[in-house]
Amino acid sequence: MENSLQKYYRQPKIYLSLPSKGMYYPENGIDGDPTNLPVFGMTAMDEIIFKTPDALFSGESTVSCIKSCIPAIKDPWLIPQIDLDSILIAIRIATYGQYLESNYSCTECKAENGTQLDLSKTLDYFSSLEYNPNVDCYPLSVTLRPFNYKEQTELQQQQYNLRRILLQSTGNEDMPEEDRNKKLDEFYNTLAKYQITAYKKQIATVEADDVRVADAQEINDFINNSDKGFFQKIKAHLEDLQALWQVQSQTTTCSECGAENKVKFTLDNSDFFATKS
Ligand SMILES: [Zn+2]
Repeated sequence: MENSLQKYYRQPKIYLSLPSKGMYYPENGIDGDPTNLPVFGMTAMDEIIFKTPDALFSGESTVSCIKSCIPAIKDPWLIPQIDLDSILIAIRIATYGQYLESNYSCTECKAENGTQLDLSKTLDYFSSLEYNPNVDCYPLSVTLRPFNYKEQTELQQQQYNLRRILLQSTGNEDMPEEDRNKKLDEFYNTLAKYQITAYKKQIATVEADDVRVADAQEINDFINNSDKGFFQKIKAHLEDLQALWQVQSQTTTCSECGAENKVKFTLDNSDFFATKS
């Protein structure tokens, strides 16, 4: 039965163009046009879930919020990394509007200033970017693929757990300095291993002698047995991509001395979704 209040249900507030333009999603992973996706504002329930720290950490709250606000994306766990920030910013705009209040102290005169950052500029920036998956490693050519949200969350959790174990062991004051340094070495080695594994997983195909290899195990074995220069090229390419896919700072003028300041917001701050009560 149709609810007679249905016409008062929330309506899409903005339409989002995904930076990926729909690539890297499974077939039928998106309903409709990936360059014009309707975005709804958060419901009261979405907001409550977003304020729960545990849910935020596991990624569950982000997934449930995306399902609610951009229902056209079938499985948010499979969202490629390059779309995630745009999606979160679009949901924030749909819920609270396009401006974000931000405070900064002037780099010249140290005066405290309040400013408004325009989130739609950041959306425009992200949608102007192009993900270049091709790395030339002559005589081989490599194509990359972005991590999806599931893989990204797993990596973050691994790193977080590792840090927690390190803090626990180095926080023990009875531990001799020598042992403490050993723990620290182990920590950095494991962290580096995680990072290398994450880089390897982002290799989609390696092509050589007209043969295209897409099997993850074969690619993994190959990297483990190749010169390090090969891996360095892929790593550099991934780092360039990461540097490009960052929120850009916006220029604002100090109200006291008129100096220009560069200010930016961070999305990993839980305030980003809980500014209004
Ligand atoms: Zn100033």
